[in-house]
Amino acid sequence: MTFDQLDRRYLWHPFTPMREWLAETPLVIERAEGNELIDTEGRRYLDGVSSLWVNVHGHAHPAINAAISEQLAKVAHTTLLGLASTPSILLAEKLVALAPPGLARVFFSDSGSTAVEVALKLAFQFQQLRGFPRRVKFLALRNAYHGDTIGSVSLGGIDTFHRVFQPLLFHTLRVNPTIPELQQAFADHAHELAAFVLEPLVQGAAGILLQPPGFLREARSLCHSHGVLLVADEVATGFGRTGTMFACDQEGVTPDLLTLAKGLSGGYLPVAATMATDEVFRQFLGLPEERLTFFHGHSFGGNALGCAAALASLDLFQREQTLASLPPKIAALRARLSAKIASLPHVFEIRQKGLMVGIELRRSDSRPYSPEEAVGARVCRIVRRHGVILRPLGSVVVLMPPLSVTTDQIDRLVDATAAAITEATSHPLPAPALPPSPSPHPTTAAAPLRGIFLVGTDTGVGKTTVAVGLLTLARARGLAPVPFKPVETGASPDPDDALRLRSAAGRDALPREIICPYAFSPPVAPALAAEQASTRLSLDGIISAARRAAALGDFLLVESAGGVLSPYSENLTTADLAAALGLPVLLVARNALGTINHAALAIAELHRRHLPLTGVLFVDTTPLCTPDRPHNSRFVRALTGVRILGTLPFLPVPTPDGVAAALRLNVDVDLLLPRLR
Ligand code: PMP
Repeated sequence: MTFDQLDRRYLWHPFTPMREWLAETPLVIERAEGNELIDTEGRRYLDGVSSLWVNVHGHAHPAINAAISEQLAKVAHTTLLGLASTPSILLAEKLVALAPPGLARVFFSDSGSTAVEVALKLAFQFQQLRGFPRRVKFLALRNAYHGDTIGSVSLGGIDTFHRVFQPLLFHTLRVNPTIPELQQAFADHAHELAAFVLEPLVQGAAGILLQPPGFLREARSLCHSHGVLLVADEVATGFGRTGTMFACDQEGVTPDLLTLAKGLSGGYLPVAATMATDEVFRQFLGLPEERLTFFHGHSFGGNALGCAAALASLDLFQREQTLASLPPKIAALRARLSAKIASLPHVFEIRQKGLMVGIELRRSDSRPYSPEEAVGARVCRIVRRHGVILRPLGSVVVLMPPLSVTTDQIDRLVDATAAAITEATSHPLPAPALPPSPSPHPTTAAAPLRGIFLVGTDTGVGKTTVAVGLLTLARARGLAPVPFKPVETGASPDPDDALRLRSAAGRDALPREIICPYAFSPPVAPALAAEQASTRLSLDGIISAARRAAALGDFLLVESAGGVLSPYSENLTTADLAAALGLPVLLVARNALGTINHAALAIAELHRRHLPLTGVLFVDTTPLCTPDRPHNSRFVRALTGVRILGTLPFLPVPTPDGVAAALRLNVDVDLLLPRLR
């Protein structure tokens, strides 16, 4: 029998639908050199995901191989239960020197999951020993992934992986990665929390999701002031992946507990570590009868071969100046992605931190692919023909080459991925269940416009404030935006919102009519205001005005009136206008009671018309924090699958610069603005 036949006969592969696996011929890897894997037929493949995010300096590196052989000649493994061993001592010393300052102790285990499991149990026991028996819960990020043991699965929030185990899991509190939601979660729950566990800067398995700058620092400060431990899971982000040795380094944060695995041994052997501060460690010091011992340990914890590999890998970081070599590679990767992949029609978003990249694919109308369509898996299957190995996360194609990747290999990786995405998305995928709705207004065949179309879940939800902030941010990035508010009602006598937009765009000299062609005094729906003024708003008139305005700058920021179905005439709504302009839609939702329903209905209508929806932005329109606020975005996300871009906090005086700063801090503006370059 050949290897592939034997595999199908005897193996059960992780995270793998085995029925499909058995129906296909697996690719069997026999050896590897540097950043390339070699199969049993001698074919070479670039290891585009570092053998599941573990490999650092390339495969079969002579220095790491030699260190393992040298250790093997001494001893392969001895236990750390009641005995010490030389390689684990040397590695612990090295890790304490490298890790964020203050992490003083190393507890060894053998995988990312066990490192997290150790951190959970340490945090729990720490709070008990400290005299806080009610602090028994954990806070984690939405869509978290921290491993596959039951404790780490309890922290996890990825429905596809974790739902089936629900009855076995302990309850974990969840929060979206925005600063206001985190503050709210601490205000509500800190008294019952043992720890907040997060992947710093980037949530890997959630789909390479990036956190807003300052989020980790805020987490550190909230944990500190509320007596909650901060656990940073750097199993994926550690050892240079984000551009620094640890992601925590980028925000100058020392967590109370730090989990490490994957790249710790250079990706050669299963070594993991949970690092703790002295404050945590000291709580466990006492006489045996005081029952302070941490009763946990794995047979292979601190394995000698693994520790030797890890020491050799860390030595390479120093000798080869690995971290210093990263900035040009990261920049080359960013540039190539932007040149070759960003503009492909089914690429919804590219998220990159260091050498971690997620390319999210969506239908060309921005609706998510369903899991059954397996679009990411298709891309990864096709890319093998181009000599690259990738592994997707749903409809996100992940690129995570080893730190030793060369710029030529980066080009090869991106070019092959671009070709595979193009091929995988060019055949029509199974049709969506939603019935298409014929638009009563055929779209004009003129050149496409560039811009964003802002629509609210209702009137008075904060669209103008958001628009003012986006215009200010765009200008700060050197863009020349033009605002366009087709109709303003309640203009008495001036259309104040349109004038705010004009000023935020730095275009006070432009006649008001260019930015707002129709202004009516009664504060009623546009169709009624027009009727009362004996005017009829026509789609053609509005489109021509929009095109005239768009010609004056880099992009058009359209603020529509009211909600998705607000009428401009008896047979013309905001949605018709959005369809005719063909711009990506940003849905602005007031974060209050009733939002979930309004947002879900608005999204259903936008989807029904196949309008390209970029995401939902929540706005706290009052200072009063009602109990529903922190949860609305979660439910909207869960009900609709649409991306939540963040929440703009309440600003008593929403100056353009103030709104821009608050957007930058709390909202994924990078998703909106770079598309306009
Ligand atoms: N934490 C994070 C952040 C991870 O990405 C992973 C694995 N992808 C784990 C924990 C679990 O690690 P392991 O697969 O080694 O158990």
